[in-house]
Amino acid sequence: MNDIKDWSARTRAAQALGRIDEATGGLVPPLHVTTTFIRDPAYADWTSPIYGRPDNQTTREAEALIGSLEGAAATLVFGSGMSAAIALFLSLGAGARIVAPRRMYWALRHWLKAEAPKLGLEVAFADPEDLEALKGAVAARPTRLVWLETPSNPLWSVTDIAAAAEIAHQAGAALAVDSTCATPVFTRPLALGAAVVMHSATKYLNGHSDVIAGALGFARADGLAARAAEIRKLHGLILGPFEAFLLIRGLRTVDLRVRACAANAFELAQRLANHASVLEVLYPGLPHHPGHEVARRQMQGGFGGMLSIRVRGGRDGAIGAAARVSLWKRATSLGGVESLIEHRASYEGPESPCPPDLLRLSAGVEDVEDLWRDLDQALRG
Ligand code: PLP
Repeated sequence: MNDIKDWSARTRAAQALGRIDEATGGLVPPLHVTTTFIRDPAYADWTSPIYGRPDNQTTREAEALIGSLEGAAATLVFGSGMSAAIALFLSLGAGARIVAPRRMYWALRHWLKAEAPKLGLEVAFADPEDLEALKGAVAARPTRLVWLETPSNPLWSVTDIAAAAEIAHQAGAALAVDSTCATPVFTRPLALGAAVVMHSATKYLNGHSDVIAGALGFARADGLAARAAEIRKLHGLILGPFEAFLLIRGLRTVDLRVRACAANAFELAQRLANHASVLEVLYPGLPHHPGHEVARRQMQGGFGGMLSIRVRGGRDGAIGAAARVSLWKRATSLGGVESLIEHRASYEGPESPCPPDLLRLSAGVEDVEDLWRDLDQALRG
């Protein structure tokens, strides 16, 4: 029972893998800020730390913890979720083909559409929730990487990771999953056959809306992982030590926070489904959701803390409701302890697949009755 490998994920996170500072006995490991290290007189030692851009001890500790939660053989943290994902795409090299979902985090979709082709990457978009459509898209031309996001932000479609992994493997492609909103508390994509799991650690992993960070976890410490580490080093994409320190602090409570957010989201989704001002609730936990059965199998213990609602009265109805909240905060981002509400179509612009009457809700850990009262009065108008 004293062996870390016997600890549950919640215990490993709470104790940040149980590491004690050897020099002082401190329960909280020190923050390593140095950017440079003393060299041996002969300049012959290339295994000890040399410089802060390739690596940092505090960053390594954050990686060890995230890697342990995801079951990864190699983990890298980055200065943002965007830089983590882009480092993976760049690791494939020019000429590689990527199949990505039509419904996914908008800025990454924009990068794949507008920037990736300039760098020699070929990108095809598909609807991976429909496995036959995914199979067709992957088979159309030789494909290196299938990218998924499940549940996908902000329409919350759900893709069967194990089935998508099978499709990717049969075509000789690797599967990578943006698991930002599922979190390792509810889904572990590597155990379902993915080669790579990606997080915007800005969201649930940190959980306090005070760090921008990203992570890649690799099922194998293989050439792809090594290439991503090289890209991170050469492009200077590593997460800074102070942010890594805060990320570790946030990760200690990830299990508690994520379960509390999901319980609130589930309760609110059920109540909102019966609200006179709400046309539709998009939440994988509701039985009518098209991805509910897959989510029940794939998401162990909860459906996540994110949901969207379509409000009666179109764009004006949605914006009017968002204008009337006071406890919920009108702000972008998600996965923090405080509840956020956002009119996504305004934020994403004309390329957005979001209907204009949609509001995205990130349920925090507050008392659900307080959250409900505030939302209910805002929707009643
Ligand atoms: N993936 C998802 C699902 C996101 O929601 C976000 C940000 O909102 C990102 C990736 C990008 O992460 P970051 O903002 O940390 O760069």
